[in-house]
Amino acid sequence: MSGPARFLPRFIEPAGLPLQLIVFVTGRCNCRCGHCFYGREVERAAPGPTLEEFEKLARSSGPLLWLSLTGGEPFLREDLAEITRPFVAHAGLRNLTIPTNGLATDRILESTERILKLHPRLQVVVYLSLDGPREVHDKLRGVEGCFDRAMETWRGLKELKKRHRRLNLAPVTTICGSNSALLGKFFDWLLAELEPDDVVLNMLRGSTPDHWEGFFDPQDYVAFQEKKDRALDEGRLPHFTLKGSRLLAAKERYQWRLILDILEQRRQVIPCLGGTLSAVVSETGYLYPCETLMGSPEDDPLQREHFCKKSAAAVGNLAEADWDLRRLWWTKRAEEIRRHVARGHCWCTYECAWTTSILFNPRCYPDLLRLMWGKAKL
Ligand code: SF4
Ligand code: SF4
Repeated sequence: MSGPARFLPRFIEPAGLPLQLIVFVTGRCNCRCGHCFYGREVERAAPGPTLEEFEKLARSSGPLLWLSLTGGEPFLREDLAEITRPFVAHAGLRNLTIPTNGLATDRILESTERILKLHPRLQVVVYLSLDGPREVHDKLRGVEGCFDRAMETWRGLKELKKRHRRLNLAPVTTICGSNSALLGKFFDWLLAELEPDDVVLNMLRGSTPDHWEGFFDPQDYVAFQEKKDRALDEGRLPHFTLKGSRLLAAKERYQWRLILDILEQRRQVIPCLGGTLSAVVSETGYLYPCETLMGSPEDDPLQREHFCKKSAAAVGNLAEADWDLRRLWWTKRAEEIRRHVARGHCWCTYECAWTTSILFNPRCYPDLLRLMWGKAKL
């Protein structure tokens, strides 16, 4: 079997190596966002693993359906394109996503083009963070001029896309207390001005200063997502008109409703497969089941209160296992964490883990099929 068909057996038996890897390539960042769940690590600014360590990680990770290179600001790694090489060569990678704050325009354009040229079969999605109109965005990001630089990056990426159709571009907005009420209009602006392939709305996570300014209004979240549903219905988000993307569009519709249910019920509404199908590697080599369980509930009051009833935290450090993922993945500690997740001892709204948890759950398919074949609502 080749391509996505390789992963079909995981519908029946999810156990195995992770097919979705989220790798923090650096802790360095050129923004200081008030809503950053990773603020403590950004201050520590660890440089991230070496190319040799990435090579070992990729050789041991098994086939990957999806890799996300994140941080910090991933494009601050001059060698970002080189980091992708072993994942394509050894893990058969076909889908790469990279989030960026858009500040380092030249570097972002150079590295993205290099990645596309290096890997002629790789689908690449660059997610550009945009949290609201200029003043709101700059204030949230802690950098004056951040919005204008992000726009310059967007224009450059759009030019690049004319030469590389495998490049998909999407703004990603994090809803928080500071921008919640503005997002309905902002969605219209994003669609009209940017002509993006997709538009993503994520929920604020973790313990951040913005939490204490007041939580966002879930109705604003719903309004934004309903506008996205309409754009999907009308074929105005090209990412979802590509071959095979119909299922992903249905997943999008399903996922935001699921996430709202999770937030309301404060539990895993369907089983989370974080730590089974997906895993996170920090810039210091720690292996986690997901981003929410990075760090420790002991020093994160919000995580302790709302997101995790028990400490799960790290499976271990890859540096102590010669960057061999398999050596940590099958340990007693890893099994203990998987049991913790399977018993529903944690819950959260972390979109990446819910993506695979939905797509690889056969029980979600009646709803997904209805959403695929024209029923816009569940
Ligand atoms: S750009 Fe991302 S990693 Fe950097 S401070 Fe902002 S939210 Fe955190
Ligand atoms: S429910 Fe949330 S905290 Fe628990 S494993 Fe899944 S993604 Fe992590």
